[in-house]
Amino acid sequence: MFRWADVITYAKYGNPEPPRRLALSEADWQQRLTPAQYAVLRGCGTEPPYRNAYCRSYEPGRYVCAGCGSLLFDSATKYHAISGWPSFTQPAARHALSYHFDNSHHMQRVEVRCNACGGHLGHVFPDGPAPAGLRYCINSVSLRHEAPDVGADNT
Ligand code: FE
Repeated sequence: MFRWADVITYAKYGNPEPPRRLALSEADWQQRLTPAQYAVLRGCGTEPPYRNAYCRSYEPGRYVCAGCGSLLFDSATKYHAISGWPSFTQPAARHALSYHFDNSHHMQRVEVRCNACGGHLGHVFPDGPAPAGLRYCINSVSLRHEAPDVGADNT
């Protein structure tokens, strides 16, 4: 289980190597992403609360990075946090995300990025539900939901 102490250790001493990396020029990102995706993923923007795709969605499946397709979160860890943004209790894997201290806007927060492409996802807070106590507060526009592949079970 990933805990707040792990978040702080990664932010302080460095994040793990991702299985793969995707580095593109700003021009390539601009071409690949919609303006709304670009503003959040590459510009560290924040989409409006509640008026976003996955805030109230609890479909089974997984959430991948809208920038590079890397697996970020499983829908089983998604919960209702009354924040207006999709919230998760755990990352899909320890190496999926990277953590960075963010002192902007007169707040001390920990920024969460996709560890493969460096895209801004949101922030993580130590006020989530037990047992891990984490709340990943993530912009919908940084994510893409993928339904589970049930084909094999239907044969
Ligand atoms: Fe990514």
